[in-house]
Amino acid sequence: MKIAFFSTKSYDRESFLRQGQSYGYEFSFFEAQLNHQTVALAEGHQAICTFVNDPVDEFTLKKLNHLGIRLIALRCAGYNQVNLQAAEKYGIHIARVPAYSPEAVAEHAFALILTLSRKTHKAYNRVRENNFSIEGLTGVNIHGKTVGVIGTGAIGRAFCRIAKGFGCKILAFDLQENEEMKALGVTYLPLKEVLATSHIISLHCPLTPQTRHLINAETLSYMQNGVALINTSRGALIDTKAVIKALKSKKLGFLGIDVYEQEEHIFFKNLSDEILEDEQISRLMTFPNVLITGHQAFLTNEALAQIALTTLENIKAFEQGSVLVNEIKAS
Ligand code: NAD
Repeated sequence: MKIAFFSTKSYDRESFLRQGQSYGYEFSFFEAQLNHQTVALAEGHQAICTFVNDPVDEFTLKKLNHLGIRLIALRCAGYNQVNLQAAEKYGIHIARVPAYSPEAVAEHAFALILTLSRKTHKAYNRVRENNFSIEGLTGVNIHGKTVGVIGTGAIGRAFCRIAKGFGCKILAFDLQENEEMKALGVTYLPLKEVLATSHIISLHCPLTPQTRHLINAETLSYMQNGVALINTSRGALIDTKAVIKALKSKKLGFLGIDVYEQEEHIFFKNLSDEILEDEQISRLMTFPNVLITGHQAFLTNEALAQIALTTLENIKAFEQGSVLVNEIKAS
């Protein structure tokens, strides 16, 4: 079987070549994102493998159908970028990697919290310039704080376990309450109450029409002054304009984001020699209490190995006509 990879980075190539040795598949690694122009690269392959920001829209699916592609193996958990109705219309199956290392993302969310709460991003720069002054580096303890977790799926649960270890009080909102989390001491409350009571809010729900701009001017107004907001889920959970206003008014004490609303134009690219045209991310970067990482929360050795393994198992199940356990369909 020949599989075309889109948006390939060196770490994808390495992990798939390492994990793929026993499968006997032929891989074509393309750096290009999947789009209306690059879809032609899929010719001669039976399946394609795409990543979080590859838009799989109706036009692309129609072309893929024409090229004989029957399976799109997403090497990620989120699938908001795929038009599932159109995939069904063209008889193209979509499989994903539902969970690879929830701890990788949860630990990154905590890395953002710890960096911002103890200003280690500033300390790092100071010390490199022989500036050992600690003036202005006063932080806050995480111990004893109330943490609000929106979405207690695999990543949200891993996040709650870490928060428990730090000695936090944990509140959560999810459409489905989880018994394991309740046993851990997590208290489920309505969204408004979680937002109003928490010192730190971490987003772990998927991007859906219901959760788009979950954090907006109105929901920000429920929050305490100086609240910390962390988003490692999907950029559009946050209305960036509203969050910029909240940073300016000091409603938000700090903001840590690994995902951004318009990230598909920016993230995963080296733009260091270019002028950034995105006004909002440029504004965000001017705040001393904002930390942005470029969608790297998943990026650990352990997660990459598991992503490759599950993706290859998805492809094998499809090829052998077995049940495609990780298939996603239009509901
Ligand atoms: P999951 O499916 O295990 O859990 C999602 C949880 O959100 C579920 O418990 C679900 O009931 C809940 N939920 C759904 N709609 C909700 C709503 N309207 N309000 C509150 N809760 C709601 O998913 P996961 O593996 O925990 O991943 C969560 C998200 O993290 C993914 O959707 C993806 O967008 C993101 N993610 C980011 C990275 C990264 O590198 N930054 C990596 C993997 C996943």
